[in-house]
Amino acid sequence: MKAAFLKAPQHITVEDVEKPVTGPGDILVRAAYCGICTLEQRLYTGERKLYYPVIPGHEASGIIVELGGEVKTQHQAGDHVALDLVNRCHICPACLSGNSNMCENRFKKGQRVLGGFAEYILVRPDQAYVVPPDLPLEKAAFSEPVACCIRSLKKVSLKMGENLLIIGAGPMGMMHLKAALLMGARVIVSDINKSRLEDARTMGADAVVDASNGGRAVEEIKALTENRGVDCCIVTSPAPQALQTAADSIAVNGRLNIYTSYNDKPMLPLDMNSLHRLEALVTGSEGRNEEDFYRATRVLSFGKIDVADLISGIYPLDRAGEAVEAALSGSTYRILLKMEG
Ligand SMILES: [Zn+2]
Ligand SMILES: [Zn+2]
Repeated sequence: MKAAFLKAPQHITVEDVEKPVTGPGDILVRAAYCGICTLEQRLYTGERKLYYPVIPGHEASGIIVELGGEVKTQHQAGDHVALDLVNRCHICPACLSGNSNMCENRFKKGQRVLGGFAEYILVRPDQAYVVPPDLPLEKAAFSEPVACCIRSLKKVSLKMGENLLIIGAGPMGMMHLKAALLMGARVIVSDINKSRLEDARTMGADAVVDASNGGRAVEEIKALTENRGVDCCIVTSPAPQALQTAADSIAVNGRLNIYTSYNDKPMLPLDMNSLHRLEALVTGSEGRNEEDFYRATRVLSFGKIDVADLISGIYPLDRAGEAVEAALSGSTYRILLKMEG
């Protein structure tokens, strides 16, 4: 089979390797599509390091081709699946308390990590979420990022009829937008990129705010919320200005989630007395647990969230390097790899 290996920063090669052998507890999946997320982009640029060579890819979908003899679940060959490629041990305190995205054993040596940029992939049964055959597999590959948005909105306890500000109209901002609209929020999206703001409007944003004019953005957000500020705010952009806007825009009882990760350690410009007086909550979210993943596969399967307009390009596996470059260009939403196997 073919697989794309990251051998060093900016160095991806597609090679022929042995097809994985299905162990007794494994499910072998013929991969269909894999999205190129920020993690893959940072591994490629070298901002994040795992080990080399590594097969990147964690937003994968495919079709089950073989089940190990000890697989006891209802999975069957031919099932279409979305793959949750994190390792969850199910017995550490994080897993047992519903936070398996923080599983203490998820990066233990010797485990399979990532691996979506390949024609075949071995998974454990708990990593293969069956989706109906009428959900296109390129859309099923969005289960992971949509799941991360569901977790993020859960962390701020978004309620029907609330105002939500999403800072950053990249792919994750847009997926938050779609999920939040489904949950009944009025959504304001801010970004410095005018064409992305137009796209946000097209995708259903109730209001958009041009963040390129600094403090005026906060005034606009206040004007949109009877001068109260927003009930919830999700920061999907790592720009320093985004943190200032977030801190200045939350209402009494406002909840703020830092969704983005940072290469440095910026401080939130929010003084403690305001935090006290607003009874504000500040949280972060990273990844998703099983429930989030399950719900993501459901909303995609039901057609409640349609991600067609977020697919900016589909590249064959052979052109994986080019595809990652396109994802890094900043002018795309999601770039997907299509496997041929
Ligand atoms: Zn992802
Ligand atoms: Zn665990």
